[in-house]
Amino acid sequence: MTETERLLKNSRPYLTVSADKKGGVLNHCYLIISDDETARRTLCRMVAKVALCPNGGCDECEVCEKINDGAYVALKINESEKISVDDVSELIEDSYFTGFDGDKKVYVVTDMQGMNEKAQNKFLKTLEEPPEDVVFILGASQQTAVLATILSRCKKLYFEGFTAAQIYGVLTEKTEEPDEETTRAATRAAVCGFGNLTRAKKLYDDSAFGEKFSLLVSVIRNLSSTKKLDGQLLRLKIDKSNIDGYLDIAETVFRLILAAERGAVEKGFEELDAMKGEYDYPTLVNILDLIIKCKRMSESNCNPQSIADALFIGILEVKYLCRK
Ligand SMILES: [Zn+2]
Repeated sequence: MTETERLLKNSRPYLTVSADKKGGVLNHCYLIISDDETARRTLCRMVAKVALCPNGGCDECEVCEKINDGAYVALKINESEKISVDDVSELIEDSYFTGFDGDKKVYVVTDMQGMNEKAQNKFLKTLEEPPEDVVFILGASQQTAVLATILSRCKKLYFEGFTAAQIYGVLTEKTEEPDEETTRAATRAAVCGFGNLTRAKKLYDDSAFGEKFSLLVSVIRNLSSTKKLDGQLLRLKIDKSNIDGYLDIAETVFRLILAAERGAVEKGFEELDAMKGEYDYPTLVNILDLIIKCKRMSESNCNPQSIADALFIGILEVKYLCRK
């Protein structure tokens, strides 16, 4: 069992389906909601195993073994990012006509956000009159991506996310004795992931992440006037590919400084210690607000340079307005 699976065994979605199975009241449709792709897809598979295994997911019986090998006929998994009407027709036909061993068939669709409205409407008809002995395990990045009519047919299970310490454990699970640099990189990625393992993994795998972090901290520390801003911004080489990463790092930096108001700076972020005295509480809250606004600009495809200007000019303004 991987560290991710071990952690997810204690998550609410897993425990809920396990309890349903034990009580003999398995629903015919579950929807697991999480914007963390790794957590969502892993949970969907684990929950499918709970539904199919005679012992509720023991990982030892013949059924579990076959599922782990991807060879269990009564389990079909769709992890596509795009699902068309034709794909849904195929799935429905399969669910009605294909024979199977055991007492149940399970269909997993991990990315309902990729099923367009037409396809979802077609799928709905099956959910309204589901074939006997079929269980659907669906996943979605967010609830709004699924039609309300489908939602009302599913038992909705939210995954709340991991703690930074749990993410750190997953990132370093294959490293026997992590050296100082690995520990530092994993700690930073774990905290910057904001509970999302997929996001943290991406940062951890980005060899330039540490460098970007230090660079952004240095730019923030050197912000003194709008006149000198252009020179500082040039150091970041802002473009479409890195603006979101920088905004995540900026959010992390100011959240950590805010948390450190009540004590020491989190381990692995010692360079922020010197910044603690520079910002008071209202300044930090206003800056965090500003970062959220910049993230929204990025979501609506604003020019990366204008987002960076809005962020750094904004920080200077907030610092000026909130000065003691
Ligand atoms: Zn089993």
